[in-house]
Amino acid sequence: MHKVVIIGSGCAGLTAAIYAARANLKPLVLDGYEPGGQLTMTTMVENFPGYPDGILGPELIDHMRKQAQRFGAEFHSGAVTEAALGKRPFKITAGKESFESETLIVAAGASARMLGLESERQLIGHGVSTCATCDGYFFRDRDIAVVGGGDTAMEEANFLTRFARKVTILHRRNDFRASKIMLDRARANEKINFLTPVVVEDVMEPKKQLVEALKLRNVETNQTSTLPVDGLFIGIGHEPNTKIFGGQLDMDSNGYLITHHGSQTNVTGVFAAGDVQDHRYRQAVTAAGSGCMAAMDAEKFLEAHSR
Ligand code: NAP
Repeated sequence: MHKVVIIGSGCAGLTAAIYAARANLKPLVLDGYEPGGQLTMTTMVENFPGYPDGILGPELIDHMRKQAQRFGAEFHSGAVTEAALGKRPFKITAGKESFESETLIVAAGASARMLGLESERQLIGHGVSTCATCDGYFFRDRDIAVVGGGDTAMEEANFLTRFARKVTILHRRNDFRASKIMLDRARANEKINFLTPVVVEDVMEPKKQLVEALKLRNVETNQTSTLPVDGLFIGIGHEPNTKIFGGQLDMDSNGYLITHHGSQTNVTGVFAAGDVQDHRYRQAVTAAGSGCMAAMDAEKFLEAHSR
């Protein structure tokens, strides 16, 4: 029987683990599908406080993990396949193993949707990015493309014009899903061009470990073309990793967990932190902050229920 089980080992989960471990709760962290979370897919992180020269995403995660282990957090690799939250203790299953816990912190994150191209996978962190706030700074005076037709794509494109020489929004339809205000703002921005209806068929050049052009196909005419760019931002949305909680934890229409009074979910003793409950800020530092909140909330809950 565990006092605290934490699902997810990104910024939120690891910060929750540090706080829970320092409160002597010996948390068990279940690593999940993407151990270390989205930071393990980035290169230099320059906006996490405390690192004036920046730090590599995987290194930052490694530091947090060691910090949690130093205070007694335990780790178990593997993804959670089932969570029974109907009564306490909660029963969490990861493959063939099951764990019982008095409290649960869900920090399972959200995964950026990707186009699914092999070249895209090879160049992530080398010119392909899913986060303009994180990586825009590296594209000063460069030409960039943003894929997507929703609010995320418009927001990322607008943000990127602070750095880029030119931003081209690539969308597979002529109609946009983005809200009118966001679309109008992008249309009014002189640095932004729109190219529709196109899909990205390939990102060049993985062999050189950098982005130098995109192969595009117009879906109406089937004509292909090459667009020279220095970077590609994928802005086609995120998927919160909440499927296993369906019918148990309250979610919004996009599947993000709903929290109240800090990190509490609708199930007493279950707390949520990080991107699994935040589609707005999605920053390492905000995820870490909410992981701290969840651990403190779990600690208070345990104190109140052990009397
Ligand atoms: P979204 O609204 O689901 O839009 C995703 C876009 O990506 C759509 O245009 C979609 O094309 C395209 N897309 C999806 N899969 C694709 C693929 N495989 N290849 C090419 N294109 C693909 O996602 P989002 O923009 O991340 O927004 C999610 C939610 O957050 C929305 O409710 C949004 O309003 C909100 N949000 C708000 C703000 C803000 O207000 N500041 C900022 C960001 C997000 P189709 O249109 O053809 O399906």
